[in-house]
Amino acid sequence: LAVINTRPTWAEVDLSALRHNYRTLSSHVAPKAQICAVVKCDAYGHGALECAQALEAEGAKWFGVTNPSEALVLRRGGIKGRILLLSGFWQGEEESVLEHDFTPAVWTEGHVAWLDAAAKRFGRTKVPVHLKIDTGMSRLGVRWNELPTLLPKLFRARRLSIEGVWSHLASSEVVDAFDAQAQIANFEQALTYLADEGVKWKYRHLANSAAVAVRPSTWYDMVRPGLLLYGHCLPLTHTNHVSPDVHLQLALKPVLSWKTRVVDIRRVPAGQGVGYGSTFTTRKPSLLATIPVGYGDGYLRALSNKGRALVRGEYAPIAGNVSMDLTIIDVSRIPGVAVGDEVTLIGRDGEKSIEIEELARHYQSIAYEVMCGISKRVPRKYI
Ligand code: PLP
Repeated sequence: LAVINTRPTWAEVDLSALRHNYRTLSSHVAPKAQICAVVKCDAYGHGALECAQALEAEGAKWFGVTNPSEALVLRRGGIKGRILLLSGFWQGEEESVLEHDFTPAVWTEGHVAWLDAAAKRFGRTKVPVHLKIDTGMSRLGVRWNELPTLLPKLFRARRLSIEGVWSHLASSEVVDAFDAQAQIANFEQALTYLADEGVKWKYRHLANSAAVAVRPSTWYDMVRPGLLLYGHCLPLTHTNHVSPDVHLQLALKPVLSWKTRVVDIRRVPAGQGVGYGSTFTTRKPSLLATIPVGYGDGYLRALSNKGRALVRGEYAPIAGNVSMDLTIIDVSRIPGVAVGDEVTLIGRDGEKSIEIEELARHYQSIAYEVMCGISKRVPRKYI
């Protein structure tokens, strides 16, 4: 028997906003650099294939994902563009890399040996790889000063060709960060060394979103924005203060909204406990509405008694603890609320809006985690 899911909780993904953001960013970095659209982790929860298709239709040539299995979702969905594996690949995945023309980050002797051996078996030459350099984030990549050990092995792997040289910044949103300056200097040093050794790259890339926004010197030949594509940016700061003078002039549009509907409504007297643990007690007779969303959907318990939703264009505070599937909001001050009313958890309703960043503050986290955390149980609707 087919079960139809009509639970009225969904995330709306505005693909025209995504395309607008891509166009805006492309012209921002042109003619210097082109864009590698970062669509890893299911496009930060927006849906990787749908986003990649919209971006490809807008002219995107490069996509960044974590690993071969994420890349395969795009290829199987018909994406023709180049797909960069930002976290490389694990032993055993090298044939899939070749079979589907993925472009892997490489930085270990293992990567080089496994891929070169697979290329030999497949009769392939000139397999493009992007050499990942650890310029100071200490996460992935060959340390810039250890290149002399790896490079001879890459040269000996005759079927591989270094198409890209790249690194990742740890603090690009801190405008005057000393570590970002040090990383850029280390990247330059690595490039000089590689050029002296005869490496002829086509792409150097370093910039994530914040660097795309404010660090033109890091754009090189390609940039790798994720968050900006989805219409958001980390607050740009200076080391010792939030800088009011650094504004994003890019006029990007938020891509994601999160909606649900009132499924139940009740009048309760003053002094009534609300939700698990009765962490909220009504001070006066109140009108409470129940919405079908909870921490099982990624609407976190940190919002209990703190967050708010929008109903009929007005804010309604969350009353009591968010539970796994349900949340209660206080709609006493909003006239006419009824079962079936649309409720906005993230996004705009009339004059008012709730930004992803507001949830991130309650979560003591960042916009990335809010987006990626909206669970699979929440269907994405593309508009
Ligand atoms: N490049 C790499 C290697 C990443 O890991 C990420 C995301 O974490 C990005 C680019 C995109 O970062 P952002 O979303 O800040 O633009």
